[in-house]
Amino acid sequence: MKMPVLFVGHGNPMNAIERNAFHLGWAEVARRLPKPKAVLCVSAHWETRGARVTAAVDPETIHDFHGFPQALFDVRYPAPGDPALAARVAALVTSEGVQLDPGRGLDHGAWSVLIAMYAGADVPVVQLSMDTSLPGAHHYALARQLAPLRDQGVLVLGSGNIVHNLRMFDFRNPAPLDWALAADASIRGMISGRRHDALAAFPDRPEARLAVPTPEHYLPLLYAVALQQDDEKAGFFNVAVPGSISMTSVLIGAGGEA
Ligand code: ZN
Repeated sequence: MKMPVLFVGHGNPMNAIERNAFHLGWAEVARRLPKPKAVLCVSAHWETRGARVTAAVDPETIHDFHGFPQALFDVRYPAPGDPALAARVAALVTSEGVQLDPGRGLDHGAWSVLIAMYAGADVPVVQLSMDTSLPGAHHYALARQLAPLRDQGVLVLGSGNIVHNLRMFDFRNPAPLDWALAADASIRGMISGRRHDALAAFPDRPEARLAVPTPEHYLPLLYAVALQQDDEKAGFFNVAVPGSISMTSVLIGAGGEA
């Protein structure tokens, strides 16, 4: 059977250890999915020149943030790597060379979500980086080549935020901003309408200026929608827009109608 595909809005790293609605939403969706043999995560927090894939046997937990409580820096997510999967990813992407990176660990875009989904850290995790200097269509085309992984028990997990503007975020008042709500609704409409070309082109459009001031949190969405088959639905969960960030998450495939 084909593994479903997931995109999650990860937002604040504290969602890893706070048992809030987002954390519980990730845990709940994992319970609905078949248990994967491995996860291939594309996170906003690993940008490189050219694509790379983690090839460590035991990837370290990277604390790639500042100004958070010690409890968050103390978190370790000891999921094993899967060097064989990393090699398969590199082999599947024939449009360009994908470099194996045996030194790279897991960034918080990956582990802050996976710690809720698979608390036992018993599912191997591999990460694929993004060259964010390249346009959305490039990422969409690259992701299409990963389709066979769905038949091999691999959960492809994009982790970012479809609306992400930290400069406009007001920590004292995280009420949804009108433009952020509108962008979130517009992007959900494109996903529901299967307008993949429009989704790939969105970061470069003038109306995306506030929602996607930089592309790294948006692009992981394209790795999920690129794997949607014609007969598969996309469903949403964790739909919320705190301030200038959308936590909207997307499940494609079995259970995606929920
Ligand atoms: Zn982030």
